[in-house]
Amino acid sequence: MEDFSEARKRMVQNQIVVRGIKDRRVIDAMIKVPRHEFITLDLWNQAYNDYPLPTDCNQTISQPYIVALMTELLGLKRGDEKVLEIGTGSGYQTAILAELSASVYSVERFSKLTLRAKEILNRLDYKNINIKTDDGTKGWAEFAPYDAIIVTASTPQVPQPLIDQLKDNGRMVIPVGARFSQDLTLVRKERGNVTAVSHSGCVFVPLIGDYGWKD
Ligand code: SAH
Repeated sequence: MEDFSEARKRMVQNQIVVRGIKDRRVIDAMIKVPRHEFITLDLWNQAYNDYPLPTDCNQTISQPYIVALMTELLGLKRGDEKVLEIGTGSGYQTAILAELSASVYSVERFSKLTLRAKEILNRLDYKNINIKTDDGTKGWAEFAPYDAIIVTASTPQVPQPLIDQLKDNGRMVIPVGARFSQDLTLVRKERGNVTAVSHSGCVFVPLIGDYGWKD
């Protein structure tokens, strides 16, 4: 069966490298992970195109470049770190993170998406991923603190529990702003000091929960 490896290499070159992604480990992970496996069969012919695609529960799988950019901003250099992801969705970003870290904890609001992501990630034989259905605006306190936190849905402000669950020298990438346009923001904690720097404009589906959007 078609494994789309050529399409994947073209995606990485034409959408990701040309836009300035340089981290070799991120590039290699994007070449490796079979993005088509995370979407429905009818969309496989669009799996490596330069835009987000719909998933179940009215959500989206992010554009490949955004996945690469957010992952690069997280700065997972050594492969021995613990990562928290909020908004598992399809599980595609989860797989990329699993390639670059020791363990990934991921929280998704919809059990239907959690189940599907677990099933695909098991089939692809990832052993360092834990996923649960819950309100991720509260983080996942049981396994805190985390070296890196990635939030793949937008919030009006950075949820305090996520700041609390970030390790010293930790990094968080999160889209912060209004409902239909946000800034991709890099939050750092250094000796207890929290700083936030906007990186670029972006548009994500809303993070809905106690410390996110309310509806
Ligand atoms: N990384 C995913 C992106 C999915 S879109 C991918 O590339 O497939 C964002 C996801 O965040 C959606 O699946 C949505 O259901 C989820 N989400 C929204 N609010 C949430 C919350 N409070 N806790 C956990 N997940 C949430």
